[in-house]
Amino acid sequence: TQYVYTFGGDAVSDDPRAKDKTITGGKGANLAEMASIGLPVPPGFTITTEMCVKYLAEGANFDDALRAEVASALGHIEQTVGKKFGDPADPLLVSVRSGARVSMPGMMDTVLNLGLNDDTVQGLSTVSGDERFAWDSYRRFIQMYSDVVLGLDHGLFEEALEIAKEDKGYYNDVELTAEDWKALVAEFKAIAARELGHPFPQDPSEQLWGAIEAVFASWDSDRAKVYRRLNDIPGGWGTAVNVQAMVFGNMGDTSATGVAFTRDPATGERAYYGEYLINAQGEDVVAGIRTPQYLTKAARDAAGAQAPSMEEAMPDAYGQLARVFDLLENHYRDMQDIEFTVQQGTLWMLQTRSGKRTAKAALKMAVDMVGEGLIDEATAISRIDPMALDQLLHPTLDPEADRKVLTVGLPASPGAASGKVVFDADTAETWAERGEAVILVRVETSPEDIHGMHAAKGILTARGGMTSHAAVVARGMGRPCVSGASALSIDRKSKVGRIGGTEIKEGDVLTLDGSTGEVMLGAVPTIEPELVGDFATLMEWADAKRRMKVRTNAETPADCKMARQFGAEGIGLCRTEHMFFDAGRISSVRQMILAEDKKGRETALAKLLPEQRSDFKAIFTEMAGLPVTIRLLDPPLHEFLPQGDAEFEELAEITGYGIDHLRRRADELHEFNPMLGHRGCRLGITFPEIYEMQAQAIFEAAIEVAVESGEAPVPEIMIPLVATKRELEILKALVDKIAGEVFDAKGKTLEYLVGTMIELPRAALMAGEIAEEGAFFSFGTNDLTQTTLGVSRDDAARFLNPYVEQGIYPRDPFVSLDIEGVGQLVELGAERGRATRPDIKLGICGEHGGDPASIAFCEKVGLDYVSASPYRVPIARLAAAQAAL
Ligand code: PEP
Ligand code: MG
Repeated sequence: TQYVYTFGGDAVSDDPRAKDKTITGGKGANLAEMASIGLPVPPGFTITTEMCVKYLAEGANFDDALRAEVASALGHIEQTVGKKFGDPADPLLVSVRSGARVSMPGMMDTVLNLGLNDDTVQGLSTVSGDERFAWDSYRRFIQMYSDVVLGLDHGLFEEALEIAKEDKGYYNDVELTAEDWKALVAEFKAIAARELGHPFPQDPSEQLWGAIEAVFASWDSDRAKVYRRLNDIPGGWGTAVNVQAMVFGNMGDTSATGVAFTRDPATGERAYYGEYLINAQGEDVVAGIRTPQYLTKAARDAAGAQAPSMEEAMPDAYGQLARVFDLLENHYRDMQDIEFTVQQGTLWMLQTRSGKRTAKAALKMAVDMVGEGLIDEATAISRIDPMALDQLLHPTLDPEADRKVLTVGLPASPGAASGKVVFDADTAETWAERGEAVILVRVETSPEDIHGMHAAKGILTARGGMTSHAAVVARGMGRPCVSGASALSIDRKSKVGRIGGTEIKEGDVLTLDGSTGEVMLGAVPTIEPELVGDFATLMEWADAKRRMKVRTNAETPADCKMARQFGAEGIGLCRTEHMFFDAGRISSVRQMILAEDKKGRETALAKLLPEQRSDFKAIFTEMAGLPVTIRLLDPPLHEFLPQGDAEFEELAEITGYGIDHLRRRADELHEFNPMLGHRGCRLGITFPEIYEMQAQAIFEAAIEVAVESGEAPVPEIMIPLVATKRELEILKALVDKIAGEVFDAKGKTLEYLVGTMIELPRAALMAGEIAEEGAFFSFGTNDLTQTTLGVSRDDAARFLNPYVEQGIYPRDPFVSLDIEGVGQLVELGAERGRATRPDIKLGICGEHGGDPASIAFCEKVGLDYVSASPYRVPIARLAAAQAAL
């Protein structure tokens, strides 16, 4: 196998592996692609992800074949650039960067200026004619290499630099002279030697192999693992290593470095967007150490910034860049995220990739690009991550509400969030775990903060631009973020922040508006989103492409209404027990449960009947013209029992039963394993009067709505936890009997269906027989997962995370269907059901009905609909369309 691929210069390879992201990684593949379409790319080579996988399995015994490949690829760079690696007179310097199949911003490591040592620094100084630049580059290299490759604490070097600046009375790095940097290099080397116990490596070849190994090893760093877990990236992919000739953005005022997007990644606006720094090196922009300047004059004007834009300061290089932007968009037909360097007036491209974007921007770009003829509707649909729509479905700040704006930073990632202030990622995680909404407030964020950013509702930073780590990661996660709020100062030790004259302590409440950059004291009220414009357009396209219907799981009129606005086409699961918990009726429910006998139960049920009837009426009215699946009572009765003395006393008063009696009944209802106990249809079999009451309420409500509105609902009555045909047979007969009675009494009939959930393995296996009784099946994949895996839904959290981390399950099987295992039962159930009853209606109503990967599986199995909670309905519509493409 070939493990090394060259790019740039006259390297033309027709090996498709060179441009295959799975082999050369995203960065390597795109560098090769850019070079091949004639863009200015410094020459370099990529060591494949396959080598990384080999390294991780076998360790660092790189063989001669690989060493030969690398040597020859290095020769390619030397020849193209006309410099030799390690040449003391005119050295070739290289960058070494990671590059996985998908971008993992800030997760992996980079080394710049590699090849510098005590000899080559002299050559660099002579050739560049800039001694200060040469020594600054050398000290940067020692700093980065020590941190990334040698694992030394970067704080040691930063401290030495700070002290040097203090001694000289400097404020800024740019004030250091060549002599200052020389002295610091000596000090940096001494620090490294002291910490390592041997000198800092001087041999360029040793430096190179050290860096290559460090990049491979960084694939398994803690922060990379966290990022992979949060983004469902398999650990087996590995990263490629890119070695590339250095170009310098820090060679004076005709040099610069920057990052840019071909369209605005926050709004999707068709305008070049980015930031650059004159006389700076790569990482300075991303790290948020200096505040970058705008790319375009328009952006600078809009922000009211002083420092000139690139368009104004370097019109020629800006012109080169603008041409490249257009070429790239036309080539990739997508918004690109770019890194570039201008070395003494000449533009060089260091990276391009499809840019991360907010959901709002993703929609706008997709719809715009269809209009521009760049892509078709199907591509537009496939471009949107269904889960990202979630960002748009949640409330935004009420424009009418009072707000006390403390400061305005950069609108780095849109959306509104209120929460309690915390100043570190660990606290953010701990507080979030106990259910608090938190706002993570930092000077700047780094990859080590990723778990805290994920736990937080919003992120606020004092430093960093729109392309800082905080901004990029927050946009990717869909967290609202305000960055670069320079009025904010933080004293980390005492956990106090200050914005202007306002002191902010840990636990104080702040509100962020990531769309305007406003930072506000206290919580600000929000309003519901309006699903119009690009969102509506894209959803229309999606609806036209999907085959499956999308219903919702809802049991209150408010939820039904919201779900309809989100596009629900019916109710797939109305969990009637949720209606029982209502404050006004829980005592009637308890009275029913704790009754001695049937008569006692009937008295209590008589009180519940009118209430259930009005619940169902409200739902049928809200869902006029759409199918409504109502599930009869499911959970074990003890869930409704009184808790604590006060509730027992209250119940004793209402029912007239003595406390002792009530406690004894409660004890009798105790179950060791209630999830496998007296619940679902087992309640209906043993206490038929409960289901009779519910059926009566449903039919009476349906008839009343039919009479009042002229539009008859078609109730689909669903029996839970069925394992055998006989259970369904008995309960269907019961429902039919009640239907007959109600129809007789009202003098009116109504169409209705009786069906069942398939949520036990036996039901799936016996689906052929069960379909003789049931007109429809709804796969209850929550219980089906629980019973197939033998994993309790309610207790799984304790061990499922480690299970997922160790790859035992690829994802939490209660979130994303275990297609391999549980999926077989769904497939089999569907097949056997259809064999008996070809027109049987099939749906899914477990949580998986709102999960895109599970929805794709449902499409494959040919289900008629998926049912998801209201906020997931648009996600399901889009995912169903993608599945059907
Ligand atoms: C299921 O088990 O998948 C289901 C939808 O029912 P519940 O979650 O109410 O048990
Ligand atoms: Mg269930």
